[in-house]
Amino acid sequence: MSKMTGAVEVKGKGGGVTLEYRGKSYAFDSKAPVKADYYFVSHAHVDHVYGGLKENLIASKETVVLARERGYSLPDPISLEEVELYDSSHIVGSKSILIDDKIFYTGDIALHARGFLKAPKLPKARILVIETTYGHPKYLFPNPAKVVEEVNKLISKMYEKGVPVALCGYPLGKAQMLSYLFSTWEPIYVQESIIRLNEVCRSFGIPIKSFTSYSEAKEKGLLEKRPWILLAPSYTLKSGMMKFLKKKYDVVTFYFSGWTLDRRFGNNGADYSFPLSDHCDYMDLVKVVKHVEPEKIFTVHGYANEFSIELKKMGYDAEPLTIKQTGLDEFYRSD
Ligand SMILES: [Zn+2]
Repeated sequence: MSKMTGAVEVKGKGGGVTLEYRGKSYAFDSKAPVKADYYFVSHAHVDHVYGGLKENLIASKETVVLARERGYSLPDPISLEEVELYDSSHIVGSKSILIDDKIFYTGDIALHARGFLKAPKLPKARILVIETTYGHPKYLFPNPAKVVEEVNKLISKMYEKGVPVALCGYPLGKAQMLSYLFSTWEPIYVQESIIRLNEVCRSFGIPIKSFTSYSEAKEKGLLEKRPWILLAPSYTLKSGMMKFLKKKYDVVTFYFSGWTLDRRFGNNGADYSFPLSDHCDYMDLVKVVKHVEPEKIFTVHGYANEFSIELKKMGYDAEPLTIKQTGLDEFYRSD
């Protein structure tokens, strides 16, 4: 789908968004080969990175290193005079992009400060391309501090009974946040893939403690001494490892994701689930729009249609961009 706004052309293409502006072309978060002068990768989640890029990459250094750690081959990033990157508070290294003080693309974005991520600053822009993963009014997240309080109370209850707890979320982003938010508990063991990503984030100055790995704890018999906390990727919730831990140690599983508000996804097989998200909920998306004060809005990802309809009701000029949609199921797995 192609949309014209004066001399600006915005399209959904290659699983991402392309922009033609003043004789230059930009590809934002493409998932497939797209011909463009410049490529912007907003963050290192697998649904936003294309590993075949050779040059003219715009991204934070954190995103490049994290994506390389995950097996993507990316060139060193460049900077352009007309381009300004803004923190998007989604995960470590995530950025939004402002071109020529006029066109703002959010990538995945969160507004609420939590742990080591501050609330982002937002620019004013005439054109806004906004992610709408949770762009339906049914998605309203509770205050993250309240969620953390609730989780701590529940961990405390489990600890009193000597019951170990597994905290599960997606390995890049959520796992670092869980590593930080619940680091006052002891002992904490961490599954290997998270340990590696935690180390990369620590090298960027993110204040995450160094924990014992799960395999080392298992090898040394440390799991016998209960209770303990295990930090693990959400895909392990239905794995043989978790079945083993449940059978042998009666581990209780906690799952963290915005999708836990959606009955279709529910608790992902966990005993308890918490809507701790790294995205804007519906109201925060509206706040982004109000702050940016755009003349034209394009919505992408998730509830792009629904959110643009809501924006139109509020008097905005908004349209969804149809891209080869990674379905909600895919967001759910990759995020
Ligand atoms: Zn993401």
